[in-house]
Amino acid sequence: MLLDFLKQKHECNHKNVPIDVDEAYCPDCGALIKNKWFLVRCSCCNIKRSAHTEYSEIKPDTKFCPNCGATDFYIQELDKVSFIDVHYAIFKKIVIPQNKYTIRQVWIEKEDNLIEERKLIGAGK
Ligand SMILES: [Zn+2]
Ligand SMILES: [Zn+2]
Repeated sequence: MLLDFLKQKHECNHKNVPIDVDEAYCPDCGALIKNKWFLVRCSCCNIKRSAHTEYSEIKPDTKFCPNCGATDFYIQELDKVSFIDVHYAIFKKIVIPQNKYTIRQVWIEKEDNLIEERKLIGAGK
């Protein structure tokens, strides 16, 4: 049951979280989501490199820097994306870990009137 729940949460892509807010709770899985922007820059000449995400990893589009030919790059995290950077910036939804489920469990155990709810959440019988 718990495993199913975690799996579900993991598989949610939080598509209903609006991208124009800093952070919000996902209406589908309840996770706290922070909208983040990243830039890929060349480690050698520091130029911005166009990039994409591959299995949620950020990678530059080309193997070599078009400006200096280096292969090394680094990822810069942006607080806010500027109009100039928007073509290069990679947008990702990051899940903020939080203990609200733990807190809720403790609560349920203490509150007698929530025992019924606990049964429903628990064994399903
Ligand atoms: Zn979600
Ligand atoms: Zn370079």
